[in-house]
Amino acid sequence: MARRAPRGTQDIFPEQAAAWQHLEKTAREVFELYGYGELRTPMFEKAELFIKTTGETTDIVEKEMYTFSKGRGQYALRPEATPAVVRAYLNQRLDRSAPFQKLYYIGPMFRHERPQKGRTRQFSQLGVEVLGSYSPLVDVEVISLGIHLLKAVGLEKTAVRVNTLGCAECRPGYRDALKGYFAERLEGLCDDCRRRLDRNVFRVLDCKVPTCREMLADAPRADQHQCDNCRKHFETVTATLDRLECAVEVDHSLVRGLDYYTRTVFEYVHGSLGAQDAVGGGGRYDNLIENSGGKPQGAAGFAMGMERILIASGAGEDEAALRPVACVVAVDDDCREYALATADRLRKAGISADLDFEGRSIKSQMKRANRVGAPLVVIVGPDEKDDQEATLKNMDTGEEQTLSLDKLPGAISNSPIIQTKETR
Ligand code: AMP
Repeated sequence: MARRAPRGTQDIFPEQAAAWQHLEKTAREVFELYGYGELRTPMFEKAELFIKTTGETTDIVEKEMYTFSKGRGQYALRPEATPAVVRAYLNQRLDRSAPFQKLYYIGPMFRHERPQKGRTRQFSQLGVEVLGSYSPLVDVEVISLGIHLLKAVGLEKTAVRVNTLGCAECRPGYRDALKGYFAERLEGLCDDCRRRLDRNVFRVLDCKVPTCREMLADAPRADQHQCDNCRKHFETVTATLDRLECAVEVDHSLVRGLDYYTRTVFEYVHGSLGAQDAVGGGGRYDNLIENSGGKPQGAAGFAMGMERILIASGAGEDEAALRPVACVVAVDDDCREYALATADRLRKAGISADLDFEGRSIKSQMKRANRVGAPLVVIVGPDEKDDQEATLKNMDTGEEQTLSLDKLPGAISNSPIIQTKETR
């Protein structure tokens, strides 16, 4: 039987899960602070959804999607969430009934990439989408929310790069300029990019092949071709970010690997990550809702990689995550059922309690309580069992007292050791 998880995936054990839970909890708190509600979409969608929205010529769709057929349907494990969020929005006809929506999501995504540090085949993203507004202030809220979230999880030193890609009005001029530039330099382009030249020249800007990258330095830039409206939009975005004291750097070479972006795009990068330095990215996508069959509505959002946030914040294993308040210790085998009944009492009173199921001796049960760092031990022997009592031992002071089972939960809750020790 195969014991290894599939390449590019991982099992997360309790000691590591604590950091994940903390990240998720913090993210939910920050999202809700800004008025975003959670949307949960399926983990697979019709493949066509991503082909039409993420884009046929993107790496994600061309090379990385996990697709499968079942019955008459062709499906894909979601490689990203934005198309699914838009699909759900249109499915509910929110574009007509309540077009302005602020949504967030947290969950796994799937891309068949070559695994390396910070790049896996199943990874988790948390993200937000604001649908139903063309306002540049939405871009600002989204970008600043991301900065707030990263600070809240300890990533103070994240750099933010922003750029503008233009809109339906000014993009054709930019596209022609790019086509002209690359057409004169065909021999330097990789095979993929030669194909992309006619289908979607913007993809060339995103190519990772070194010879293609070399050509980008002198390539036409979006800001040289933008219309007045795009220029004003971007000026408002950068000026307002400044006002909110969000430090960002304008980077005209920034493009993003998805087709639907218009106007503002941005990326959060963290130096500690090495080659895969982006913790997240996003942008405005003003044509996606209309192109997906809805009423024209502006929109913007971001997605962040949770694995990368955890790597960058140096999150490690947390042994204390499962530390119980009390370990119940059975003096002999005849007391084991009573020990479980005692633990049950405590748990029902909201006190975390653990006990031995491996038939260990009293000595080794005490040792284990010490090792896991339980501040209290509840000892039950034949006398305690007969009298429906238990002996409570403070592991710091060694002090012991025998109490009736009824009084035990109250004594534990009031014990100073519980108030001072960080316990579950
Ligand atoms: P994207 O959806 O490509 O804009 O990616 C947004 C963020 O998701 C990136 O900045 C990464 O933090 C994360 N991400 C994307 N692909 C992967 C992957 N294969 N493995 C781990 N994280 C990823």
